[in-house]
Amino acid sequence: MNILVINAGSSSLKYQLIDADNKNLISKGFCERIGIEGSQLKHQPKDGDVVVIKSVMKSHADAIKLVIDSLIDPNHGVISSTDEIGAVGHRVVHGGEYFKKSVIINEDVKKAIEACVELAPLHNPPNLIGINACEHVMPKIKQVAVFDTAFHQTIPYEAYMYAIPYEYYEKYKIRKYGFHGTSHKYVAQRAAKMLGKPLEQLKLVTLHLGNGSSVTAINHGKSVDTSMGFTPLAGVPMGTRSGDIDPAIVFFLIEKEHLSIEEISDILNKHSGVCGLSGVSSDFRDLEDAANNGNKRAEIAQDIFAYNVRKYIGTYSAIMGGLDAVVFTAGIGENNSQMRSVIVNGLTYKGIKIDPEKNKLRGVEADISTSEASVRTLVIPTNEELMIAMDTFELVGK
Ligand code: AMP
Repeated sequence: MNILVINAGSSSLKYQLIDADNKNLISKGFCERIGIEGSQLKHQPKDGDVVVIKSVMKSHADAIKLVIDSLIDPNHGVISSTDEIGAVGHRVVHGGEYFKKSVIINEDVKKAIEACVELAPLHNPPNLIGINACEHVMPKIKQVAVFDTAFHQTIPYEAYMYAIPYEYYEKYKIRKYGFHGTSHKYVAQRAAKMLGKPLEQLKLVTLHLGNGSSVTAINHGKSVDTSMGFTPLAGVPMGTRSGDIDPAIVFFLIEKEHLSIEEISDILNKHSGVCGLSGVSSDFRDLEDAANNGNKRAEIAQDIFAYNVRKYIGTYSAIMGGLDAVVFTAGIGENNSQMRSVIVNGLTYKGIKIDPEKNKLRGVEADISTSEASVRTLVIPTNEELMIAMDTFELVGK
């Protein structure tokens, strides 16, 4: 069965058509500048060249129509009609406490996604628009919602509650939700395959290190804690996000710099992290170059990032009472050998030791540990789209 995976943003829409029976990618693409002048679609059939289609896309419904037209186009298309699409899987960022797993979309599901808009005001609205657009264009095809937060709904209350007056949990549902759940779940399943053991017998720390970064403790297949929190601002320092800070810094800065709520939010979300620390860039490739050219702050920024990730590895192995493997994924985790090496540096006492030769690998699945390491260190390229397709297939196809 072919599954169309949709990841709708406010003015963009990414898609992949995946054959769920053999997990093969058939085609992928990207609509940009939806609702803005100059909108275009980049469509790529597997093993084919990228086709750029410049066309007015006033809405996400226009974008979905264009995606379908490209998929069935006689020249660069990959299927002959929408009858060859078995179901559509949507990435939805926030499922609140409503969704512990992926679900087939109906009116009640859409209402619950709507109710989570205040928890993810930038993400859930375009996700809903994408769902409605697909329903409009393909009314007979089943739609499935796959939530970034769902995998973390197994986290126990001692890890998800904040020590603030309980009424705020009751009134506003303020608690840790966690994000990147689809990615953490995917790499955990792959790790179990690579280690040749059932996931239910493993203690893993998965490191999704990209522009946004999060660390998750996965005990016997279940997320038991994760570094992001009520919002994706918490946890390790990121490209431009601060990660964990003393909350009193917020009041202090508001007072000293006479900041509005929007301004302090902008500082912590867009001007902090390794970008704010280094003054160079949020991109770790730029930081590496700058540090190699003697920029001290770029070096410090990377060290602070590595220190915080290392701290989470220690904390999470403590709460699980052991550790079988550490898994690196996402842009930095998959490609940045130097950062991987700095992060695990000093963890030999825990049984974590990587082989410098194996650590040179980039972007491929690999066990980069030395033969004597008792805790394995794995690199696993994430594949959230495949995970969404497989969850959709599981619910609709079987
Ligand atoms: P992501 O958000 O997963 O796309 O990750 C973005 C981060 O990954 C950036 O800081 C990049 O420096 C890093 N990154 C992505 N691709 C590479 C690569 N090929 N080599 C080194 N770093 C990379």
